[in-house]
Amino acid sequence: MANPKKNNINCSFCGRNKSEVGILLSGIDGHICDQCLQQGYEVIKEELGAPIVNIKNSKQQFELVKPKDLKEHLDLYVIGQEEAKKHLSVAVYNHYKRLMQPSNDQDVKIEKSNILMVGETGTGKTYLARTLAQKLQVPFCIADATVITEAGYVGEDVETILTRLLQAANYDVAKAECGIVFIDEIDKIARKSDNPSITRDVSGEGVQQALLKLLEGSIVNVPPQGGRKHPDQKMIAVNTENILFICGGAFDGIGRHISKRLNARPIGFSGDDTFHDSFEKDQIMKYVTAQDLKSFGLIPELLGRLPVITYLNPLDQVALLAILTKPKNAIVKQYEKLFDMEGVKLTFTDEALTYMVEQAMQYKLGARGLRSIMEAIMTDAMFDIPSQTDISKFEVDLAYAKLKFEKTVFHQMKVVA
Ligand code: ADP
Repeated sequence: MANPKKNNINCSFCGRNKSEVGILLSGIDGHICDQCLQQGYEVIKEELGAPIVNIKNSKQQFELVKPKDLKEHLDLYVIGQEEAKKHLSVAVYNHYKRLMQPSNDQDVKIEKSNILMVGETGTGKTYLARTLAQKLQVPFCIADATVITEAGYVGEDVETILTRLLQAANYDVAKAECGIVFIDEIDKIARKSDNPSITRDVSGEGVQQALLKLLEGSIVNVPPQGGRKHPDQKMIAVNTENILFICGGAFDGIGRHISKRLNARPIGFSGDDTFHDSFEKDQIMKYVTAQDLKSFGLIPELLGRLPVITYLNPLDQVALLAILTKPKNAIVKQYEKLFDMEGVKLTFTDEALTYMVEQAMQYKLGARGLRSIMEAIMTDAMFDIPSQTDISKFEVDLAYAKLKFEKTVFHQMKVVA
């Protein structure tokens, strides 16, 4: 039989008996049960407007990888872009080291190292960010700056960016709070004029202002379902202090701002845009600074919160060929695997691969187009071969690639700028 004296203890808050609760903690002259503790926790959470995140727990949510190892991992998947890989690896490593800094260490406060990547579309900005997040095993989401509008306008509120991150973290707030957010097309919200007093572009600048509060680290109320369609949904408070933001944009024409600053117009430049463009893209991009981005139309406050600026090179024919064949999950390797599963050894001649790259360049499809070109060439073979039992190898040569590609819609496409 239970000792009646021992059981005759009640929670000093709700009065429930020890036998009715799970755990009863004893204080100097009182007791508290687990349910009252839980309620107290919720009250504090609401009062502070943020969930109490046990930083020790959230620290365990990611794997700290050294910059060299991070870059090695990126090398497996992403071709070239050495400078961007290095900057990203260091910034990400420092970011996570910052998370490990004890909160009571008031000595030197490490600041956030949000990143801005400048590079043409299709050069691997998103791919780099995604590959990094995979390695770190932290929640990752991609947001498009062009759909965000200032509060009160048609479009998405800036907070919905974090809805996606919460979804990626399965609504585990602590996990989301040390995730990575990639904001694409940041150049599209640039102010249209460098002079704010004349043609001031309110919408672009307004969105930049709205982004500030996310980037600098604050507590943001996030609609768990996103959008404005569910006005009654209960907001989730997310602290963005430890979320790493990576922004990317093509910044078309920024070369002009850079060369103006450097006062380094190519010799013989006389309004010949072709020459100027190739000069910009190949040489000038690596000199990009916050000053040029400001001239392009990003507000200084936003730039202040994106301290790491890096660039990506345009992909030339050599890079595209490497993308087709070299990465760990290269397109060619994927098709070889598909055929291998049918018991067929698939090979491509160098001429066939070069042809695909040339088409990607000609139709200005970049790395993104390689996959569609390959698919267009391989569809017939993938349709027929599974039903053929007498075939053990299949070679794609230039004539075959040409024949199949010329039949496709690509071939009838006009070259788009
Ligand atoms: P961006 O964000 O710069 O517009 P993406 O990262 O979306 O471009 O690139 C599109 C696709 O092209 C990627 O999913 C990837 O398959 C391929 N790709 C682009 N650049 C590279 C690269 N440097 N190395 C390997 N693949 C690349």
